Amino acid sequence: MTTTVQLRAAAVAMALVLGVATLSGQGSPTSAGPVDPLLLEDLALSYRILTDRGIMDGLGHVSIRHPGNPQRYLISQNRATGVVTPADIIELDLDSRPVNPNARTYNEVAIHAEIYKIRPDVNAVVHHHAPGTVSWGMGKIPMLPMNQSSRWMLDGVPFLDYRDFGRIPGDRGWEDTNLVHTPARGEVVARTLGFSGALLLVNHGAVVVGASIYEAVGRSIYMEINTEVQTAAILRGGQVTYYDAAGELRATGSRSDFARQWELWKHESCPKAGFCKPEFGDRMATPGGGRGGRGGRGGRGGDATGGGRGGRR
Ligand SMILES: [Zn+2]
Repeated sequence: MTTTVQLRAAAVAMALVLGVATLSGQGSPTSAGPVDPLLLEDLALSYRILTDRGIMDGLGHVSIRHPGNPQRYLISQNRATGVVTPADIIELDLDSRPVNPNARTYNEVAIHAEIYKIRPDVNAVVHHHAPGTVSWGMGKIPMLPMNQSSRWMLDGVPFLDYRDFGRIPGDRGWEDTNLVHTPARGEVVARTLGFSGALLLVNHGAVVVGASIYEAVGRSIYMEINTEVQTAAILRGGQVTYYDAAGELRATGSRSDFARQWELWKHESCPKAGFCKPEFGDRMATPGGGRGGRGGRGGRGGDATGGGRGGRR
């Protein structure tokens, strides 16, 4: 007969094989309460959308801040991006302790938690390894907006080289891994991100944030497109004219909710996902509302879930 001890040993062994972090035994936070099922559906669908569009390849993750408590966030349990369902969504506190102590979390959840700590305007975080974005992170040419869909790059897209992790006290250094697998590394990511909408992890991928899940997903997709367009423009030779020449960004702000694009992405990914309907309706009608919220134009904050309340430091 299989004993409880044997099952636990098997679970630990499986966790090691899968390279996942289990945080049981450190105490579990209590839940901040139920979340709108439609928002959970959109969060799960975002993994499918990003996979269907080549931004994710089984790896990567998306999270949102808990609408009812800025000190919590929601993310999939550790599984491949193309198969995530609403039932996979788990709740963690900002120390990345899951409410369900048996939940298997991703290795790099600290990216999400540390950004939520210092960016109260951020309600959604994406981490991915899209090929064009990775290639851009290997160079030193600044990523600049090509057109209105990437105007959010107004605040710049900083680089973070994993070799710099070796400077963190107590860190085993870049020779150990280039993953952001500790809170200390996550904090470096968050600080390097600053007030920007995205960060390039050299030889790794990118971190993209937004006031809503729609904005963070849209930025991720258009960041990848931007690498293709900017690369083509540079290879074509001659002078490259970047967007913002007329100061439009400063006049209109860098926010974009990607509402129309989300409707398209949803129509394309829902039938395959099987857990949602393509109809979008007024999902983003509530400014900053409980369903992820409209990003709002022209400024930071303006969100109902985290604005002015989420920062620890
Ligand atoms: Zn990664």
